[in-house]
Amino acid sequence: DLPPFARRSTREWQAADAAHFLHPFTDHQALATKGVRVITHGDGVYVWDSDGRRIFDAMSGLWCVNVGYGQGALIEAAAQQMRTLPYYNAFFQTTTPPATALAERLAAVTPAQFRHVFFSSSGSEANDTVIRLVRRYWDLMGQPERKVIVSRLNAYHGSTMAAASLGGMAAMHTQGGLPIPGIAHIDQPHFWAHRHGAAKGLSREEFGVVAARWLEEKIAEIGPDKVAAFIGEPVQGAGGVVVPPSTYWPEIQRICDRHGILLVSDEVVCGFGRTGRWWGCETFGTRPDLMTFAKGVTSGYVPLGGVMVGERVARVLIERGGEFEHGYTYSGHPVACAVALANLDVIEQQQLVQRVREDTGPYLAQQLANLLDHPMVGEVQSCGLMAAIQLCRDIPLRESFAPEIAIGMACRGHCFDNGLVMRAVGDRMIVAPPLIMTRAQVDEMCGLIRQALDRTY
Ligand code: PLP
Repeated sequence: DLPPFARRSTREWQAADAAHFLHPFTDHQALATKGVRVITHGDGVYVWDSDGRRIFDAMSGLWCVNVGYGQGALIEAAAQQMRTLPYYNAFFQTTTPPATALAERLAAVTPAQFRHVFFSSSGSEANDTVIRLVRRYWDLMGQPERKVIVSRLNAYHGSTMAAASLGGMAAMHTQGGLPIPGIAHIDQPHFWAHRHGAAKGLSREEFGVVAARWLEEKIAEIGPDKVAAFIGEPVQGAGGVVVPPSTYWPEIQRICDRHGILLVSDEVVCGFGRTGRWWGCETFGTRPDLMTFAKGVTSGYVPLGGVMVGERVARVLIERGGEFEHGYTYSGHPVACAVALANLDVIEQQQLVQRVREDTGPYLAQQLANLLDHPMVGEVQSCGLMAAIQLCRDIPLRESFAPEIAIGMACRGHCFDNGLVMRAVGDRMIVAPPLIMTRAQVDEMCGLIRQALDRTY
């Protein structure tokens, strides 16, 4: 029952792809020698390629397919909404039932300060919207000089010019002449990366406070009356699943409070149960003023994102702001919102957040800890169902591999060849499997990881 366009061999796909498709985040010379991998279908935690090989998707696509592949309720919700009303906009004093119902539902599952949402179609657009909202807020507050948003090195907030500027990915900045003005960066609370430097001789908790105070130093450098907001992912995802010390976020919150700076939590990866609570800010104990989301809101079945706008900002915007000159054609897309509502039903009915917190999350941490006996594993870190395995040589000295060895990419290759999708961030291997995964699937995944480590060693 495949549509006519889908009936091709792998070789035919690869030829057509090489001829026409410029892929995101892809080296096309390297791709030309290997040929693209074509994923044709999925079920639960597995996807299949065009050669019929089953692959364990330990990255949930791109951190998004939280309820797994093939959830009938989401599929039905999309089809039904497409039949009823495939599109209408939310501009100019109009809405559709799914958009308003989702806004109401999101207010119910987010922390108490959030009662309003602004919809986008992606995390990048949501983070762009944050810049507009933050600047508008301070203008309306009579402090237009508060413009600078502080973010972190190696953070990922998206790929538009503004979101990539908020992010701290050096390779992205180099190619685009970024960051745009008004954005500053501090270093990340990466205990392993700082083990021979700022974290030397400190406990994780001591280092967490040191790393948070980098924000205070940056504020002093810029001038407190010029700093508008601080943005961070509760756990840096694309930066390598950098789980911060427990002391880090409370200290960041204290510093933001002290200087009246807005706190923005980028929950694009951490939201909707990934860390074992609905929101990463709940896991780490902060009270953000703004919160961005995408990915897990629809489990990636259709694009949707947005910004939860806390009452501190929403009241000012609504009561004093007049028209907010910002919006996307697909803000509040009815099909996306209908799918999101069905997705939230699945998360609640299957108690996925609780399962991650009480069952599969702790079990994954336990199984990953077993990998510490491997001669190439320096540390393992996990939070709910996101985890990192740090590769290194000379375990007692915890020395890194020389970059030209590209150990992470080698390990990733062995994973692929062995039916496991796992990501490499430098020499850190990361996973973020679907939240529906069972304990047996945790075992299966960890077994595949160990095989890949053995083959890489
Ligand atoms: N924020 C975080 C933390 C992300 O990980 C991502 C994407 O991976 C984004 C924002 C950007 O989201 P999108 O790719 O939907 O634009």
